[in-house]
Amino acid sequence: MVKYGIANGWIPMGRLELNDLVKVFESGSSEIVAVDELNVTVEDGDLLVLVGPSGCGKSTTLRCIAGLERVTSGRIELDGRDITHLKPKERDMAMVFQNYALYPHMSVRKNIGYGLKITTDLDRSTVYERVEETAEMLEIGDLLDKKPSELSGGQQQRVALGRAIIREPEVFLMDEPLSNLDAKLRTTMRTEIQQLQQEMDVTTIYVTHDQTEAMTMGDYIAVLDDGELQQLGTPLQCYHEPRNRFVAGFIGSPSMNFLEIERGGNVLHHDEFTYQLSSKTVDAVANASQRLTLGVRPEHIDIVDGSVTNAVRTEIEVVEPMGELSYVYMTIGDQTYTASVDGELRLSSGEVVSVEFPEDKIHLFDAETGEAVKNSETAERVETTARS
Ligand code: ATP
Repeated sequence: MVKYGIANGWIPMGRLELNDLVKVFESGSSEIVAVDELNVTVEDGDLLVLVGPSGCGKSTTLRCIAGLERVTSGRIELDGRDITHLKPKERDMAMVFQNYALYPHMSVRKNIGYGLKITTDLDRSTVYERVEETAEMLEIGDLLDKKPSELSGGQQQRVALGRAIIREPEVFLMDEPLSNLDAKLRTTMRTEIQQLQQEMDVTTIYVTHDQTEAMTMGDYIAVLDDGELQQLGTPLQCYHEPRNRFVAGFIGSPSMNFLEIERGGNVLHHDEFTYQLSSKTVDAVANASQRLTLGVRPEHIDIVDGSVTNAVRTEIEVVEPMGELSYVYMTIGDQTYTASVDGELRLSSGEVVSVEFPEDKIHLFDAETGEAVKNSETAERVETTARS
């Protein structure tokens, strides 16, 4: 696809590759491995979300890509060019941070144009035009003469985006850019950033700890834990086909429920129930260990008639009505788990009901390694539909 930016003829090309990227911080006498042999490729124009819990190495990875951290080992390539040791300003990347860091004494116009003015030899009128075009695109054209202190959080974030966009970089790097905004504005800005990124078709790496942002924004998501890549895939692959228990628990809200079980022949044994497996699942787990973890997402738990095969009797602890849905907290033995059910169902705490974990929706993980041994069958259906 031929790409044009806001300035005529601008055709950014940004295939970014991280090869065996390692970043170790020395901390007193110990070492912290913040990024551990990370291998990720982001194709030109794609939006990759780096997601994971606090401290998993997302920001460090981004800072290595930007050239703000010296990498310990490994290689970073942009369109086949080794940029591992280039200075930040030689990399043609623009970064947007959580903290917008606008110049308080400058107008919005100057804030947006400043970087362009000092890093290029464009004349004043060209810079002026580019600022106007960028502001137009971000719908802040009427704010150009205001100072940052006169703007709302969302408007300030738009100015920060404008500063990055105007440079027409090959790669955008965004580190939790929405975390200072309230929930409603976050949702709006999330969509806007996505639209902007698609319109400009610029390779983007977006860091967040918020799995909803990852699911909704990314062409691909890279799930990190403890510096290591857990899974790289589309949001739906990570949701339906998590590679391990960590990804299964991190992606999806509310989180997947996990129950420890033993496998014996065609039956799964839990302290409080047994679960008959079909021959298809028995074959799928034939080589797996005996000790497994059963995973079931809240939205896949059905409240059923007690006579259904594999129905589990359970007591309702708390019902949280959300409108269209209700989150129902229930117990099996001494373990609490969550179901997400139709909001019109009338349920109350203390009530005993039967639930089903549909076999085509359950996940099974090796209890020791956490590796997935069977995923939900929805994944197969999603893939088939995508291909047809
Ligand atoms: P958060 O979501 O909280 O920002 P993160 O996933 O972005 O977390 P990083 O900031 O990349 O995580 O940190 C990864 C690990 O490296 C953490 O253990 C952190 O304490 C450590 N770390 C980061 N920067 C430094 C530093 N300059 N010196 C020492 N350790 C550091």
